[in-house]
Amino acid sequence: MRWECDVALVGAGPAGLFAARELAPARLRVVVVEKGLAPKERTSLTCGVGGAGAFSDGKLNLTPRIGGEPEALGLGPAEAMALIRYVDETFTQYGAPLEYSGEDEDALSRLRRVAAEAGVEFLAGRQRHIGTTKIREVIDNLYQDLVRRGVTFLLGRRVHTIRQEGKGFVLDLGGDEVVARYVIAAPGRGGAYWLREVTRAMGIGPDFGPLDVGVRVEFPAEIYAPIERIMYDAKFRVRTPTYDDMVRTFCTNPRGFVVAEDHGDYVLVNGHAENETKTANTNFALLVRIELTDPVEDTTEYGRAIAKLATTIGGGKPILQRLKDLRQGRRSTLERIRRVPIEPTLKDFTPGDISMALPHRVVVDLVEALAMLDRVMPGVDSGSTLLYAPEIKFYDTRYRVRAGMETELPGFYVAGDASGHSRGIVFAAVTGILAARHILSRHA
Ligand SMILES: Cc1cc2nc3c(=O)[nH]c(=O)nc-3n(C[C@H](O)[C@H](O)[C@H](O)COP(=O)(O)OP(=O)(O)OC[C@H]3O[C@@H](n4cnc5c(N)ncnc54)[C@H](O)[C@@H]3O)c2cc1C
Repeated sequence: MRWECDVALVGAGPAGLFAARELAPARLRVVVVEKGLAPKERTSLTCGVGGAGAFSDGKLNLTPRIGGEPEALGLGPAEAMALIRYVDETFTQYGAPLEYSGEDEDALSRLRRVAAEAGVEFLAGRQRHIGTTKIREVIDNLYQDLVRRGVTFLLGRRVHTIRQEGKGFVLDLGGDEVVARYVIAAPGRGGAYWLREVTRAMGIGPDFGPLDVGVRVEFPAEIYAPIERIMYDAKFRVRTPTYDDMVRTFCTNPRGFVVAEDHGDYVLVNGHAENETKTANTNFALLVRIELTDPVEDTTEYGRAIAKLATTIGGGKPILQRLKDLRQGRRSTLERIRRVPIEPTLKDFTPGDISMALPHRVVVDLVEALAMLDRVMPGVDSGSTLLYAPEIKFYDTRYRVRAGMETELPGFYVAGDASGHSRGIVFAAVTGILAARHILSRHA
């Protein structure tokens, strides 16, 4: 079968959905190809309508300082903020809860001062916490609306390759084809390497972007409770004393879970929080930013090598170590882990030694960062704090884009996390909107 359309979208994550929503009112034929299923049918954590965002905790970061670099997209502060507000309003229109966290200016400024005194940067900003259960409903409402407005969804269909043909593009779905004048490729982090192969074949492959390497930190929820009251998912950044590296906290999950992600030849850790089931622990990612410079710039291979080494040391499972053992240069054993008053929320782990798995520089950075963070979050640097490794965020495919997310190949757009220009739901949506509006401007 062959579908003819004006705009083909690859991926129905936040980038794809928001792009489709912009295009829907115009008289353009829009086809979204998504390898996963509809919101109510999907079971995969990362694939399906809503993308990785739909089954996440649904924390919307509503500041230009989190989740993307607006300047790199040619957006001024006011323009970036207007787009963020627009994304936020759209989510509420489809049923996101109305409350914000991070709105008490006095409390934020007190926390900023405490952080500054400790040499820690606190990235204050408004957040909307939709929550795991609610976000599925919100995404379903958005999806149903797009279907009503005439957007065609080809679900459970994977785009195998994309080729240029005449003035447009042909998407090969493994026999069937979608022919489009414009393409917005938004396959998310999970599809970033596939897209890299596709775009390299078309001569517009991405540059290498940075890599974040570190651990998931888990500790009693009471330690984070005073901050949670001010900002649900507070972000902190430090520069470490020894290497002057940037280390940041990311994706804090109050009373949440640490989870393992199986990537085939390696495992990574992540975290999430649920609306219904709460634990006694809070977790966040603690990540060291790594950028490689000429002559070795392949952050993908470097990150994979670290992930594979850690997985080998962990016998195929994430490694768990007490902070005390890491500091003392010895491995954790099950017996030592049982001695701490914290019950690990991830059950399938290997007690071990993170310093055998992550580069020395990263380990030094993490230990120093925790000591600094302890002055903002007293207790987090305790010996009984649990560290799970490896947590790695690959932002390593970054496209050179012109205005409106268009690549060097006219008519071919990239959006969302796979573009290398977003790292979260809101910015993914923003890049999708930019791409769609650019296409619309050509049809005005
Ligand atoms: C566990 C977890 C929790 C998270 N929590 C948060 C959070 O609270 N707040 C936040 O801001 N961000 C969070 N994130 C990150 C956020 O989900 C992503 O930044 C965001 O979803 C990126 O949007 P996207 O549209 O670029 O890609 P994605 O959401 O990844 O969507 C891409 C879609 O493309 C599809 N696809 C890929 N390749 C193909 C192909 N070849 N053919 C057809 N379809 C394809 C995939 O199936 C997928 O549905 C979380 C991520 C995870 C994994």
